[in-house]
Amino acid sequence: MELVCPLCNGLTKYLCRCHKCESVMIDKGPITDFLDEYSPYLPIGLTSMVDGANSNFCVHLFYCEKCDHDKRVKIERIKI
Ligand SMILES: [Zn+2]
Ligand SMILES: [Zn+2]
Repeated sequence: MELVCPLCNGLTKYLCRCHKCESVMIDKGPITDFLDEYSPYLPIGLTSMVDGANSNFCVHLFYCEKCDHDKRVKIERIKI
């Protein structure tokens, strides 16, 4: 058995609605992708925090185009 993020693996769709305008936010993907890109500029504490969250959850960044607002959502990994 393996723990996987259902969103990263296309097993399910997660509809995240913007709390301001109610429109469906765009899934920008798991936040670790962003960290890989920017981690040299981040304080060490922040990266280790995300690593810790990584074991059971995959943190996705959702973005609302209308409000230019983004939100991090913890997606629970499932066993396959
Ligand atoms: Zn994911
Ligand atoms: Zn919005």
